[in-house]
Amino acid sequence: MKSMTIIDDEFSFGGFTSGNEGIWTRNAPTDAPTDDYISLSERLRVPLTHIIRPYQASGDKVEIVGTEHGGMGVIKDNVLKKVDGIVTAEKGIALSVLAADCVPIYLIDKKAAVIGLLHCGWRSAAGSLLHNAVQRMKELGAVPAEIQVITGPHICPDCYEVGEDVRQAYAEVFTEKQLEKIFVIRNHKLYLDLSEAVRLKASSEGITDENISVINCCTCHDNSLYSYRRGDRGRQNAAFIIMKA
Ligand SMILES: [Zn+2]
Repeated sequence: MKSMTIIDDEFSFGGFTSGNEGIWTRNAPTDAPTDDYISLSERLRVPLTHIIRPYQASGDKVEIVGTEHGGMGVIKDNVLKKVDGIVTAEKGIALSVLAADCVPIYLIDKKAAVIGLLHCGWRSAAGSLLHNAVQRMKELGAVPAEIQVITGPHICPDCYEVGEDVRQAYAEVFTEKQLEKIFVIRNHKLYLDLSEAVRLKASSEGITDENISVINCCTCHDNSLYSYRRGDRGRQNAAFIIMKA
């Protein structure tokens, strides 16, 4: 088990944890919350009715959430289906997403008091997920130049071998020069640097370089975290962020 603090200041608290068992999803919406969500709730000192988990689909959809979504995906059914990003302007509401190699992306605009959290796999990193998140945050008063982006623990380019199909998909979105930064070739094999792709996408949204940071921790390298590539199935890590009251 591993639990990391990603951000903890006067404004917000965010982290990344494998939980005790890595089990965050229930078989049915009516099932009891998982033990891991119960301990997360204790750690955040908020009731389960204040934690939100969208049903993810490795897509581009981002929704604005608030009190009315509290507990969805945690203790009750969810209107947030096929949603990979949630943003809020409400304090005391914990956003969470699950990831086991994909990138959790934490978004913070302190001035506007808006936060967001994304689950970003390789498709979404080349797609519109980040763009849509910035749009939703703007609707709540955020400004790209004020948005801080943190890419949390995810599979690193030493571990993430991909096929030529991935490079071809990226070639439709990124320039040749950008592709050279995103992909690494070793021993005739192709490796993807997800955080570099996220950084380039963030720059194109008007987010400044000094506001983009990367947590150097690989879910595949680190045996105390869950990794799909390393063979974990049905067990994941949870990323979370909450604006302090
Ligand atoms: Zn690695």
